Amino acid sequence: MDFQKDFPILKSNVNGKPLIYFDNAATSQKPKYVINSINNYYQNYNSNVHRGVHELSQKATNVYEGSRVKIQNFIGAKSSKEIIFTKGTTDGINIIASSWAETQLNQGDEIIITTMEHHSNIVPWQILCEKIGAKLIISPINKKGEMIMSEFKSLISNKTKLISISHVSNTLGTINPVKDIVEIAKENNCKVLIDAAQSIPHFKVDVSKIDCDFLVFSGHKIFAPTGIGVLYVKNDRFQEMKPYQGGGDMIKDVSFEKTTYNDPPHKFEAGTPNISGVVGLGSAIDYVNKIGIDKISNLENDLLHYATEKIESINKIKIFGNAENKASVISFNINGFHPFDIGTLLDQFGIAIRTGHHCTQPLMNFYNIPGTARISFAFYNQKKEIDYFIDSLKKAILMLG
Ligand code: PLP
Repeated sequence: MDFQKDFPILKSNVNGKPLIYFDNAATSQKPKYVINSINNYYQNYNSNVHRGVHELSQKATNVYEGSRVKIQNFIGAKSSKEIIFTKGTTDGINIIASSWAETQLNQGDEIIITTMEHHSNIVPWQILCEKIGAKLIISPINKKGEMIMSEFKSLISNKTKLISISHVSNTLGTINPVKDIVEIAKENNCKVLIDAAQSIPHFKVDVSKIDCDFLVFSGHKIFAPTGIGVLYVKNDRFQEMKPYQGGGDMIKDVSFEKTTYNDPPHKFEAGTPNISGVVGLGSAIDYVNKIGIDKISNLENDLLHYATEKIESINKIKIFGNAENKASVISFNINGFHPFDIGTLLDQFGIAIRTGHHCTQPLMNFYNIPGTARISFAFYNQKKEIDYFIDSLKKAILMLG
């Protein structure tokens, strides 16, 4: 089935060639259905939420809160109260660092992350550690790009308070065994945050099954607009969280003497939120549900295997990330060429790929490389696009000599 017709941008030409969009791990394209829903909000019921008795405000509030329920169901949360709207994955991690970890961790406590984390799951913890005197511990990976579980277990001690781990590596595609990680964490009484930025668009993520404490993702990677994201907080954790920001909507009652706070999730959504973003995210979830996340997963797995085989057959190419359990991301380098040059030439063929360190510089250091070229698929990509990419890549290699 041709899903590309749902995405207006995929009909465009780039540098005189039909666009081939292989940069989905950076951000996904948006279907007409999502674009129209945002348009409809601004044209027909633009209004602030939770504030007005008037018709428009009630409509906006209903759609806004309706999106929260859609997300609750999509990720299997027990209650829509466990869904907090954020700006994105980075914002969600920073909220947990400030709002939960800063009050729950003490000097000498430890947070475990892995070598493959995105900067947004490294730097907030570094800032926190500096502030409170906690320690960041790095769980190592093997050359295939998989966590070494025996080493991970050996790093856990009674000082470990939080494990913060990506579900899927944006650079390697590795799918981490988050359910096992949570089980190990529970045996040791530590909490777990899952960075689901790269898993949520690609396969079923169920917080009840994973049983994590926190989970974050960005709307823009799952066909919704930029500037909107989700922080899932297990209900038990709320009493340990202080407000992140103060302002409208997060309060119950304000006086100069004493302010009382609203209940979660609104306690953590200060100020006028990104209403159109929430509308768009709700529509994106509808869109994904209509196709079916399992179908999306199967389509992408097929593309991953097809492309991996073709890339491996090209001389001098090395793929980084050969995990047994992998999502639709392929990072590679071609001996002797800078990934930037490959990316620039492919752009001339109308192919959008990502080059550089992918916000995972410590991972680049692990492989002792400055960066990689990365292609990443969404379900709307096609095998004929991969064929064209392989032909263009071979041409680029010849051009670079
Ligand atoms: N974590 C992972 C694994 C990512 O791939 C990304 C974005 O590429 C992020 C976090 C940060 O997401 P955002 O920039 O949407 O906050």
